[in-house]
Amino acid sequence: MPLLIRNGELVTADARGRADIYVADETITRIGGDLEAPPGTEVIDAAGKYVFPGFIDPHVHIYLPFMATFAKDTHETASIAALVGGTTTYIEMCCPSRTDDALAAYELWKGKAEGKSACDYTFHMAVSKYTDETEGQLREIVRDGISSFKIFLAYKNFFGVDDGEMYQALALARKLGVIVTAHCENAELVAQLQQELLRAGRTGPEWHEASRPETVEAEGTHHFATFLENTGATGYVVHLSCEGALKAALAAKERGVRMHVEAVIPHLMLNKTYAERPGVEGMKHVMSPPLRARRNQGVLWNALNAGLIDTVGTDHCPFDTGQKLLGREAFTQIPNGIPGIEERVNLLYTYGVKRGKLDLHRFVDAASTRAAKLFGLFPRKGTIAVGGDADLVVFDPEYRGTISALGQHVNNDYNGFEGMPIEGRAAVVTVRGKVQVRAGEFVGERGRGQLLKREPSHL
Ligand SMILES: [Zn+2]
Repeated sequence: MPLLIRNGELVTADARGRADIYVADETITRIGGDLEAPPGTEVIDAAGKYVFPGFIDPHVHIYLPFMATFAKDTHETASIAALVGGTTTYIEMCCPSRTDDALAAYELWKGKAEGKSACDYTFHMAVSKYTDETEGQLREIVRDGISSFKIFLAYKNFFGVDDGEMYQALALARKLGVIVTAHCENAELVAQLQQELLRAGRTGPEWHEASRPETVEAEGTHHFATFLENTGATGYVVHLSCEGALKAALAAKERGVRMHVEAVIPHLMLNKTYAERPGVEGMKHVMSPPLRARRNQGVLWNALNAGLIDTVGTDHCPFDTGQKLLGREAFTQIPNGIPGIEERVNLLYTYGVKRGKLDLHRFVDAASTRAAKLFGLFPRKGTIAVGGDADLVVFDPEYRGTISALGQHVNNDYNGFEGMPIEGRAAVVTVRGKVQVRAGEFVGERGRGQLLKREPSHL
């Protein structure tokens, strides 16, 4: 059914104004004043509301075998949570371990999403080792429409690559025009500091941050930058959490390294005192890089507003209370992750835009447009334009609510942002012209999501 969204205030990364949007066959076909609605058109009145391009979460984990267990979401639960929170596309990390075959893992991850996700999706392909077979396999995956890789400098012996493997992955990425996302913490330092803390009887979640301090992330970021510099590849630092790492990234950019930066919503909203709460409450707030000292948060918000941090993702990765308790005896056994796919946009709007820390256009850019541009989805996604996919968010700035695990759509028994007030939320959300969320509730078609094929764009 054709769709007309009337009277809304359209806001993109670089423009703003009142207009109607007409959608036919999944695509925006007209934008203008007082558009006509032919018979059979569904009309949505967006008076008093913003209309944003569908938001893109560039960093989520849905299917994930990790630390002796599995993350809790399926593509059904995660995509509904995403849509209710205004996210219409996510990029999942396809994360084989070093013992897995890359191509088999890619097929496995694809199979978990196909016909299950209610929103559109694609993958970053993790390169977790580099053997004689790797180049051929990665070329095949890129031909299948995956134009971004992921490497881990952390998680030694599991996902992590050594320097030789990192060099080879980056050299291939440079040749193919693929962007490489990277988790930047020095694996050896983390391993040594963990053992030293455990030997001293420091086993609680409050010691997690001490085992991966800011300097370890700053070193990892500088290390990655040096490898980008010497291969000419384009990189993207995921979940940058602190001032030291930001300085390393900005110094690299300044000398011409092609490096982009992502922040994630937990580091913007939460500080390390959350992980210092006693018992399982602390464990719920363990992720890597860890939640940091509060002073880093102002630094991240400022860099985000200035566009020095490009994007805001989530690193969504839900483990429930029982799974977190696997780390009862030692913080090194706590499954890492804080879910946030449902809350990202509302938190960014409330605590960024509404508090005067984030320009409204920069908000759209960071949560949608910039990710679309970096990862080969623009202009099909990431803006409101004739010819683009009709992924639209009618956002109600008058809504008032409170985040709670009760009634959340993510498959988990707690919420890391419990009790935080929200000012504004997605009221209506469309995916390629179909209304998937109405009045903040999922009303759409399960399994509608498509795997987005992406061309390499970093040649
Ligand atoms: Zn991640």
